[in-house]
Amino acid sequence: MSGLIDGFGRVHKDLRISLTDHCNLRCTYCMPAEGVPWLPRQSLLSAPELMRIVEVAVKEGISEVRLTGGEPLLRPDVVDVIAAINSIENAPEISITTNGIMLPRLAGRLAEAGLTRVNISLDTLDRARFKEMTRRDRLVDVLDGIDAAKAAGLVPVKINSVLMRGVNDHEAPALLHWAMENDLQLRFIEQMPLDAGHTWSREGMVTADEIMTSLRTEFDLEAIPGRGAAPAERFLINGGPHTVGIIASVTMPFCGACDRLRLTADGQLRSCLFSNTESDLREPLRSGKSDEEIAAILHQCLFGKLAGHGINEPGFLQPPRPMSAIGG
Ligand code: SAM
Repeated sequence: MSGLIDGFGRVHKDLRISLTDHCNLRCTYCMPAEGVPWLPRQSLLSAPELMRIVEVAVKEGISEVRLTGGEPLLRPDVVDVIAAINSIENAPEISITTNGIMLPRLAGRLAEAGLTRVNISLDTLDRARFKEMTRRDRLVDVLDGIDAAKAAGLVPVKINSVLMRGVNDHEAPALLHWAMENDLQLRFIEQMPLDAGHTWSREGMVTADEIMTSLRTEFDLEAIPGRGAAPAERFLINGGPHTVGIIASVTMPFCGACDRLRLTADGQLRSCLFSNTESDLREPLRSGKSDEEIAAILHQCLFGKLAGHGINEPGFLQPPRPMSAIGG
C-alpha cells in the first residue's frame, strides 16, 4: 500500500504549512501582548525550499494544502507561493486560515493564483470585545475581509470562533444568527493548551457541551453523519440548509481519524499539533539531500506519530512551541 501511512494505518492527505510566525493580532489565548521571540529570519524556509517539500509531499500522497501561521497573509510572497503550489503536477487543493485583515487587499489575487477556500477567525461581533480579545481595534477590517473573500468567490467562507469563559461565551447564538444571515459556515473551536503564556486551564475552557447547550436555547441542531477526517462535527440548523461545526479537540478528540501533517515556517515537520518532537527538513534541504531522502523523512516522522494528542492523560506536557509558531 502506498501513501503517507502511520503506524496506526492512518493515511495522511492534508499538509498544514505555516508561512510565518508573525501576526498582526495578539489574541489573548494565543500570544502575550508583547508577542513571542520570533523565529530567526535565516531559519525561515524560502519559497523554493517550501516548494521542494510540497512537491515531494504531493508525490507521496498529499492532496490538500492549508496555509496558516502566524498570519499567513503577512508573508510578502503569499500570492506567488499559492500560484507555485497550484502549478505543480497533481496540484493539491489549496486553502488558507487567516484573520482576514489583509483580505480586502489580497482576496482577488489569491483566488486568481489558485486559492479555493478560506477560513477566517472571528470570536466576537462586538468592537470593544474584539479589541480586548485581540489587543487590536480591527473588527471592521475583518468584516471587510469576509466580504472581500465572498466577492472573490472564495466560498463557502468558514468562520472559526474560540469562546472564552466570561469574555465572549454568551455570544455563541448571536454569532450563529449572524453567520446564517451572511451565508457563512461557523465552527466553534475548544480552546487548546497551546498558548505562549501557558494560561490555558481545563476549568477556564468552554467545552463543546456548553457550546451546544447555549446554541440549543435558540436553535434545533441535528448531527450530520459521515464526518470522515474532518476536525469539526457538523450539525444541521433548524432542518437546514445551514450548518454549524464544533471542533472539540479537548473533550472529544478525533485523533483516530487524523490525516494531518504540519510544516513550520522554519522547516520542522510535526505529526501532531501537540508533538514534543519534530523532524528537521531545513538542514537536509540546504545540504542538498535528494527528493527520496526528503520523502524518507516524511515517512519517518509519521512512523513516530502517536495514537492521540494526550491532552487528557496525566503526564501531558504542552509542546514548547506556541500555536503561532506551529501553525493552527
Ligand atoms: N492568523 C490566522 C488566523 O487568525 O486564523 C491563522 C493562525 S491562528 C493560530 C489559527 C486558528 O487557531 C485561529 O482560528 C485561532 O483562533 C486558533 N487558535 C489560536 N490559539 C488557539 C488555542 N489556544 N486554542 C484553540 N484555537 C486557537
